[in-house]
Amino acid sequence: MSKLTNGRFGIHGGQYVPEILMNALHELEEAYNFYKNDPAFQQELSALFNDYAGRPSRLYFAEKMTRDLGGAKIYLKREDLNHTGAHKVNNVLGQALLAKKMGKKLLIAETGAGQHGVASATAAALMDMKCVVYMGQEDIERQALNVYKMRLLGAEVVSVTSGTGTLKDAVSEAMRAWTQQVEEAHYCIGSVVGPHPFPEMVRDFQAVISQEIKTQILEKEGKLPDAVIACVGGGSNAIGSFYNFIEDKAVRLIGCEAAGRGADTAQTAAIIATGRVGIFHGMKAYFCQDSYGQIAPVYSLSAGLDYPGIGPEHCNLHDMGRAQYVPVTDDEAVDAFEYLSRTEGIIPAIESAHAIAYAKKLAPTMGKDQVIVVTVSGRGDKDCAAIARYRGEELYE
Ligand SMILES: *Cc1c(COP(=O)(O)O)cnc(C)c1O
Repeated sequence: MSKLTNGRFGIHGGQYVPEILMNALHELEEAYNFYKNDPAFQQELSALFNDYAGRPSRLYFAEKMTRDLGGAKIYLKREDLNHTGAHKVNNVLGQALLAKKMGKKLLIAETGAGQHGVASATAAALMDMKCVVYMGQEDIERQALNVYKMRLLGAEVVSVTSGTGTLKDAVSEAMRAWTQQVEEAHYCIGSVVGPHPFPEMVRDFQAVISQEIKTQILEKEGKLPDAVIACVGGGSNAIGSFYNFIEDKAVRLIGCEAAGRGADTAQTAAIIATGRVGIFHGMKAYFCQDSYGQIAPVYSLSAGLDYPGIGPEHCNLHDMGRAQYVPVTDDEAVDAFEYLSRTEGIIPAIESAHAIAYAKKLAPTMGKDQVIVVTVSGRGDKDCAAIARYRGEELYE
């Protein structure tokens, strides 16, 4: 057996799973350590990124937004232009290819709003694998279109009725299902969360975002950005945007958490602002908890940011003071959703709008010679009906 790392980021991370999963985690870690250094695997993955997902995604100078805000130059990293409309495709192509090399026949995935489920079903269709997606009953009702898409792509969607019937319960159920079929199944987790090696592996697949930003911004500006901003649910698009800048200490890294109705209310999903260290879903990290240490319900208008924890690497970047995490409310995100649509003709995902909202605050405080890169993690088509409703207008699809 190869040398196994301990999978820690400071005090966070680890592998807090039932004994029955340890072999599967070791097998995955060994396979991942082998393939990440295998040029043939990396070449195959690059080809999928480029020819199937449409990479590299563009780094777009938002000139009108820059002029309007009157401060730092703003560039948008356009992950919304990827196939399936978000950054999630980077991760699922990586994991599905790895699972295939490992001889797995089945991809198990969880999904909240359905974005990761659709991406997983897409990768499974492409690679000729079976796909079963666990989704909370509540979410199935709210996201009929994505449920249809997953089934159209050939996946089976399993309704999860335990707990609150939402994302955290879907993750728990997917993990349970994995323990029952570790031989033939790979658990394709949707963010930089869960037990080691998931946070590290998912981060590596998403790191292509910051690798491209670096090349693109050097080409356009001849220097590194002063700040990189991304929204944070579990944290995969953010760590992907940050990763290749962590050693560049002059680059500010800013993660935008969903504050919901406010980080000072109970209806929030701002984990760094309100959470405490705990253990859940196989990892030690910050979580929203009640006074007994039970996972507390979280709330955000944005389904993709509606998770009670945040990945262990972010927890450590926060502890070290290397990255900063700021709460952004529903109201601010909805304003930014409308603002970017009007100003640049780009309808962002409501998740991504949290990052745009903070960029709107930050840019005017910076000099005109300074540069901000904001990651637009996905496109907003999926959110139009909900935002219309938020503004008191009913849309019928
Ligand atoms: C799922 C999703 C997110 C949140 O997930 P992270 O792992 O934090 O990136 C953000 N934006 C979009 C568009 C998503 O679909």
